[in-house]
Amino acid sequence: MRLTSPIVLLSAIAVLLFAGWFFGIWNWMAAAAVAVLAVAYLVAHLESSRFQTWGRRPLQEPTRTMGTLFPSAKEMHATIQRSRDRNRRLADLARKYRDTSNSIPDAWIVLNQDMVIEAVNHAATPLLGLTQSDVGSVITTLVRHPEVKRLLSLDDDLNIVEIPSPGADETQLELRLIRIDSGQNMLIARDVTELNRLLSMRQDFVANVSHELRSPLTVLIGYIESASADSLDLETLMDIVRRLDAPAQRLKSLVDDLLLLTRLESSPEPEEEDLAVIDGANLITGVVGEAETLKKKNHTIRLELQENLLVHAVGNELHSVFMNLVTNAIRYSPNGGSIHIRWYRDANLARFELSDEGVGIAAEHIPRLTERFYRVDANGLRAKGGTGLGLAIVKHVLRRHRSQLDIESRPGRGSKFSFNLEILNEREVTI
Ligand code: ADP
Repeated sequence: MRLTSPIVLLSAIAVLLFAGWFFGIWNWMAAAAVAVLAVAYLVAHLESSRFQTWGRRPLQEPTRTMGTLFPSAKEMHATIQRSRDRNRRLADLARKYRDTSNSIPDAWIVLNQDMVIEAVNHAATPLLGLTQSDVGSVITTLVRHPEVKRLLSLDDDLNIVEIPSPGADETQLELRLIRIDSGQNMLIARDVTELNRLLSMRQDFVANVSHELRSPLTVLIGYIESASADSLDLETLMDIVRRLDAPAQRLKSLVDDLLLLTRLESSPEPEEEDLAVIDGANLITGVVGEAETLKKKNHTIRLELQENLLVHAVGNELHSVFMNLVTNAIRYSPNGGSIHIRWYRDANLARFELSDEGVGIAAEHIPRLTERFYRVDANGLRAKGGTGLGLAIVKHVLRRHRSQLDIESRPGRGSKFSFNLEILNEREVTI
C-alpha cells in the first residue's frame, strides 16, 4: 500500500476529515491531512527523481523504490530490452552477410542507377582494383575497358562480357550486370582464367583425338575401297587384308590408351586390392623382352637391375610405365643406338633410370611432354607410330604411386627418364 497512490491518499484524507468532524477536532485533523499531503508530495517527488535518474540510462532493471512509477519503468525496460535484442540480431545478420560476401572469391559492386559505386566487397580489390575508398565514384572512370561501358549501357536484365582483369595479370574476368528492381545494379566479376583454360584444353583434346583417329580410319577406308574393286585376284586381296592390320592396331592402341588415361585420371589413388608386391627387376626384364620382339631396329639394351628390390604397385600400370619408356627410347633412337636401364636402391627408395642416345629433346619442350598428344615434332614423329599419350599415362601412373617423372635431355645427344618408388620393406612382405 503506497501513500502516493491517489486512492490511498484520498482515502487517508477522507478518514482524517471524517474523524475531525466526528470527534469535533476539526482543526487538528485538517492539519494532519495537510501534513499527510505534504509527506505524500515529498515521497512522490523522491520517486519521480529516482525514475528520472533511472530513465537517463534505462538499461538496468528498475527498482520498486520508484513507487507508483515502477510498473511504467518495468514496461519501458522490457520494451527497450526487446528492441535491443532485435538490433543485436540485425547487427549479427549484417556482420554475417558482410563476412560471407567478403569471403566469396567473386567480386560484387553495388551501383545506383547512375552507375555510381555504392558498395564493394573484398574480392573487388584484387580482381578490379576497387576499394572502399572508391564508393561514390562512377565505375567507368575507374574500370575503363570499353566492354564495361557497353555492358552498362545494355538494357537487358542479365548481361555478360569478358575482360582482362585490370587488377591481376593474365587473369580473365567474366562480368555480369544484374538490374535490381529498386533501380540499383549489381556488377559481379568472376575469375574465369582456369575455366577458359579447361575449355580450351577440352577443345584441343577433342580436336587431337579426332585428328589421331582420322588418319588410320582414312587408311582403312582406302584399303576397303580398293578391296571392293571388281576383278581383284586373291593374292592382291590377301595383301590388302594384311595391310589392314597396321591401321586397325593403331586405332586399337589409341582407344586403349585413351581408356587407360581416363581411368587413371578419374582415381588419384589405386584401390588397396589392386596393389601387389612387384619385383622391379623381373618386370623390367619381361618388358624389355616384349619390346625387343616388337622392335624392328637393332638396338643394344644394357640392363643393370638390382634383384629382390620390391615395391608395392599396381602391376599392369607399372608395366605400362616401363613399356612406354622403353618403346619411346627405341622409337626416338637411331638404328643401332644403345639404351641403358638401371633399377637400384637409392637410400630408402627404389630408383629407375633409362638413358638413351637418341634424338634428344630441346629444353622448352620438356615441361610439356607429359601433356596428352604433345609431340616435339608433330608431323615428323606421328610417322614413328606413337599415340602421343604414352608420357601422359606415365605421369598419371606415377602420380597414383606418389612419384613423378624426371626428364633430362640434350638435343642430338640423348635423354634420361627417371623416377623413384617407395621400397616395400621385408617386414611388410612377410605380413
Ligand atoms: P608418343 O606416342 O608420340 O611417343 P609420348 O607421350 O610417349 O608420345 O611422348 C611424347 C613426345 O615426347 C614424343 O612425341 C617425343 O617427341 C618425345 N619423346 C618421348 N620419349 C622420347 C625419347 N626417349 N627421346 C626423344 N624424344 C622423346
